[in-house]
Amino acid sequence: MSAENTREPDHICDVVVIGAGPGGYSAAFRAADLGARTILVDRWPVLGGVCLNVGCIPSKALLHTAFIIDAARGLAEHGVAFANPEIDLKKLAAHKDSVVKKLTNGLAAMAKARKVITLQGTGTFSDPHHLIVTSEDNRETIVRFDKAIIAAGSEAMTLPFLPSDPRIVDSTGALELRQIPKTMLVIGGGIIGLEMATVYSTLGARIDIVEALDGLMLGADRDLVAVWQKINARRFDHVMMQTKVVSANAEPDGIHVRFEGSNAPEKAVVYDLVLVAVGRKPNGNAIAAQNAGVTVTERGFIAVDKQMRTNVNHIFAIGDIAGEPMLAHKAVHEGHVAAENAAGKMSFFDARQIPSVAYADPEIAWAGVTETEAQRQGIAFRKAVFPWAASGRAIANGRDEGFTKLLFDAETQRIIGGGIVGIDAGNLISEICLAIEMGADAIDIGKTIHPHPTLSESVGMAAEVFEGVCTDLPPQKRR
Ligand code: NAD
Repeated sequence: MSAENTREPDHICDVVVIGAGPGGYSAAFRAADLGARTILVDRWPVLGGVCLNVGCIPSKALLHTAFIIDAARGLAEHGVAFANPEIDLKKLAAHKDSVVKKLTNGLAAMAKARKVITLQGTGTFSDPHHLIVTSEDNRETIVRFDKAIIAAGSEAMTLPFLPSDPRIVDSTGALELRQIPKTMLVIGGGIIGLEMATVYSTLGARIDIVEALDGLMLGADRDLVAVWQKINARRFDHVMMQTKVVSANAEPDGIHVRFEGSNAPEKAVVYDLVLVAVGRKPNGNAIAAQNAGVTVTERGFIAVDKQMRTNVNHIFAIGDIAGEPMLAHKAVHEGHVAAENAAGKMSFFDARQIPSVAYADPEIAWAGVTETEAQRQGIAFRKAVFPWAASGRAIANGRDEGFTKLLFDAETQRIIGGGIVGIDAGNLISEICLAIEMGADAIDIGKTIHPHPTLSESVGMAAEVFEGVCTDLPPQKRR
């Protein structure tokens, strides 16, 4: 026991949760609902973590704005022309902040209603039953706990050679919306990079993207991404695949960036703003887990079992820190499982699928096994595709570039995966998530009456394509 623990604890609780992101607050609220005296610790004064404060939510507020601007521009082709938008950046940023505030206020009220005590500060273990919460002014609060749930999340990775300069930002910095640069470099062609590139390009920035590997959004099937790339071909000036940034110098006229790789420009290129979106790393090494006997990998992950237990029986870990994929909705479900076990129930995380969504335009969403992964794993599967070019609603929307793809197990005929590219794919994927969880087959999905005319019909029709009975396409081969 460290010196601090010779002091009486300031708080005694049944469950302490470290980290108040979607996973952490969901765990704390569930534990409290089950009757546990619960304490929720976060370094920030507000609940919601990265996702709500500087991630998923503010980015969606801006992506929604960008989508409307682009849609309004697109209407010119339908005979309705608007003047160019006048962008009041301060007001837009204030709107985004108000969205976040509405949600954080709601969370604070819900914590209070559940009598969850919230403590602001950095939580570090001092032994297997004590957490020290250190505030910004270095005051220490000692919490004695029966069970702990580690939900400390992840942080943006950096490139060590980049100078410290306000014109070089991570996603948090980009979301602050301090300026609309004339030229911008996005380092990393993953989801964060491309979502922010979408926002900034719509607001007027000329953008280059540099990606070390040979593809954008590499978790998604290539056929889905190809549609996105075609639609966005003119949005970006240069997309430099298989290329890396090797140096950057901050000069008065901008950030001078040098590249190396297959598509590297010979000379340094000057940018007004550089966004670094090269992935996130888990915060496992920031909580002194070793003092509690919890094993953390070198990369900062904490291994857990299906009950979300770490190697220490009464300490659980959830969310980004507990492994890929680093997604809020996975964290929430893991949080519920951990809380239920911590409160003495028997609960397991046994999801058949965890959906992913890139909220760029068009959206890309996928669930279950991807086609790429099924091929890699040698899974015997059959696929059915419904092109949105045959969807009345997609055509009416003037956006029929997308498609819906379903993958079925060749033997059982049950759905094992699906992918959608097109407007609102992120909402549409939920039906596929449910179908996978329920073990539905193509007849279940195809015979389910979908409303007409909707984009959601494309899921039912893809299942009909699998059965060879779709009457919205030319005759198909019977299976
Ligand atoms: P990512 O790992 O998805 O993508 C980062 C990309 O950067 C990769 O393609 C990688 O090859 C590339 N890269 C790495 N180093 C590079 C270098 N030196 N030069 C050029 N390219 C380089 O990471 P992300 O987009 O930062 O997202 C981080 C995490 O947050 C992911 O786990 C993601 O799932 C999650 N996230 C999800 C959503 C969503 O669900 N909509 C949104 C944002 C973030």
